[in-house]
Amino acid sequence: MKFGGTAVASADKIKHITEIVKEQRGDIVIVVSAIRGITDKLINICNEIKKGRRDDIDEFVEDISSQHLSLIDNAIDNNAIKEQLIVDIKALLNDMSTMLHSMNVLGEVTPRSMDYIVSFGERLIAPIVSAALRDASIKSQAFTGKEAGILTDSNFGEARPLMDTTRLRVSKTLNNLLEEGVVPVVTGFVASDQYGHITTLGRGGSDYTATILADALDADEVWLMTDVDGLMTADPKIVSNARVIREVSYQEAMEMALFGAKYMHPRALEPAYEKSIPVRIRNVFKPKDLGTLIIKEPSSNAKQIVKSVSIIRDLALIDVRGSSMAGAPGTAAKIFNILGDEKVNIIMISQGPSESSISMVVRKHDLDKAVTSLELNLLGKLIKQVNVTDDVAVIAAVGSGMRGIKGVASRIFKAVADQGINVIMIAQGSSELDLAFVVDAKDSKDAVNAIHDEFKLGA
Ligand code: ASP
Ligand code: MG
Repeated sequence: MKFGGTAVASADKIKHITEIVKEQRGDIVIVVSAIRGITDKLINICNEIKKGRRDDIDEFVEDISSQHLSLIDNAIDNNAIKEQLIVDIKALLNDMSTMLHSMNVLGEVTPRSMDYIVSFGERLIAPIVSAALRDASIKSQAFTGKEAGILTDSNFGEARPLMDTTRLRVSKTLNNLLEEGVVPVVTGFVASDQYGHITTLGRGGSDYTATILADALDADEVWLMTDVDGLMTADPKIVSNARVIREVSYQEAMEMALFGAKYMHPRALEPAYEKSIPVRIRNVFKPKDLGTLIIKEPSSNAKQIVKSVSIIRDLALIDVRGSSMAGAPGTAAKIFNILGDEKVNIIMISQGPSESSISMVVRKHDLDKAVTSLELNLLGKLIKQVNVTDDVAVIAAVGSGMRGIKGVASRIFKAVADQGINVIMIAQGSSELDLAFVVDAKDSKDAVNAIHDEFKLGA
């Protein structure tokens, strides 16, 4: 069971976790995320240090410290447990403070030292949750991902697990404890490389930790306990009758999670998929709701053509044109390399067979960087014109039932056209798992509703 950042954000919520654990019969391993907002703060301070020397490191540490210490004060009743926990947490805070001061003096933040700092979000909360369980008379022990045995490569910030070694180590550290009825509480997101340096798995990586452990321990199920009801047919803020989807395949879930209310690490379902371990996304505050079940083969009544419609907002469209682009191998590579060097992420791409223009969708905050670098490097040479459409949205219809079914695209585009909405650009991957198109941002809400209605996705 993985508990997200909102599920550990207050003493009441932590007590709620102990209630949930008490009700379970089988063996449980718990994975926790940092308290909501902490990871962002830790990343920020590192970025600030990078920019120049700070004189407010102590204030920063004090802020993180008081947040956790007041949580302990309200979450733990037993004095002996509380005192030991405070000693442990203060030692971690000390370690964090020393490291931050050193980085600040050196004026240097490396990917490795950044991971070390960022890991404190999870490292501070796991012992607290574990102590709360012991406080409620449940046997428990806290682990960092490193201590639990998760080994990764040294790609700091986005490390990948080395599964064979991880399986061996994790089963060694955790299996005996499980047999003794101990509930291990493991930090999400945090692991280590072969030299023992702390690594992190990338944003949202706690879900990934849960599936890695599930794979290593041959778990029966993974429950991702979060603050939303599951994967939805659409964003309920936009579509009033949106509802929770009961069953989806791993691939569908990945597509949906990338844009939906429940953000997931792009590789989080991989380990579960490989071992066919069912994953549930459940609302931690609605224990009776079963949420969304993610499995290999959703039952046939769950195989609608389109299962969900989502929006990605705050995007801009860049269209580059030039007659010399046609028939010139390497054109696309040049364009994408330039954007890649600027760390501009491209969300969607399309090129027509006339090859005289390429359209790309990027995040609005990357737009200036993207356009400037294209103009500086290519304008007047390969390309004649760079056109920008500010403020567009991508609408994506997802569902494996779309594969090989004729007329899906025509239904989607007719529904949208009937609302008088202009479609600016279209892309469909050859997996036919999703169909995505670009509209003006002001039309996005109507477009989503039109498709949601057309495929009768509502409650
Ligand atoms: N705390 C990490 C993050 O904010 C990992 C997670 O929450 O899954 O990205
Ligand atoms: Mg999270």
